[in-house]
Amino acid sequence: MPKIPVKLVEWNEIVEWSWGLARKIEESNYVPDVIIAIARGGYVPARLLCDFLGVENLISIQSQHWTEAAKKGERAIIKFEYVINLENARALLIDDIIDTGESVILARDYILNTWKPKELRIAALQWISPVAKIKPDYYYMEVKEWIWFQYPWTRLEDVTQFIKRIIEANYNEKKKSTWTLDEIVREFEEWYGIQVDNRYFNSAVNILVKKGIIKKINNELIYLLGKA
Ligand code: AMP
Repeated sequence: MPKIPVKLVEWNEIVEWSWGLARKIEESNYVPDVIIAIARGGYVPARLLCDFLGVENLISIQSQHWTEAAKKGERAIIKFEYVINLENARALLIDDIIDTGESVILARDYILNTWKPKELRIAALQWISPVAKIKPDYYYMEVKEWIWFQYPWTRLEDVTQFIKRIIEANYNEKKKSTWTLDEIVREFEEWYGIQVDNRYFNSAVNILVKKGIIKKINNELIYLLGKA
């Protein structure tokens, strides 16, 4: 059984969802002059919406809350604050998913206070309605039960963090510190219920080796904190 409910999202689904979101915005007759992507999750949907809505102006703001996959960071912050004048513009703020809603609320408030657009509306591919503190003006999909969406643009990052979590939990619970790659793959599929291409596992392991979390000896992977 997966320990965290995860849905693997494919690129073609992103295109379909973004297309559907664009149609909803169009049907409302809102014509944005500028699209603002919330970095980093909003980048791909925002770029697709520029195409599907014929919007030329694309800028971004980095509002960060979740520092690790499926684990909430302490609070949302605006990174790299800068000021521009949007007084004459109708703006559309875009993110991939609104979960707690804290990132989008922070970005919205910052933009309204400092960039001062004529109008600002919010759009997201997905909206987790039972937990979100805000309802976006536009969303493609309402999610009624919390799940981690493994988007294609965070695949390596998520796989790396998920493997790290598996290794740490097994050490804490069973003092297991030596792994083969096959064991990791099996446990990963059991925990998360998704399958990813082998190159993600190989690269994730290399990243964990570089970070000094595991060591590779022949075909064995050794959890270094476990040895300490
Ligand atoms: P939040 O501030 O909780 O609304 O989420 C901020 C960002 O974290 C989102 O824009 C996503 O990039 C990422 N995120 C949060 N929850 C999820 C989830 N359930 N699945 C995938 N990504 C998520």
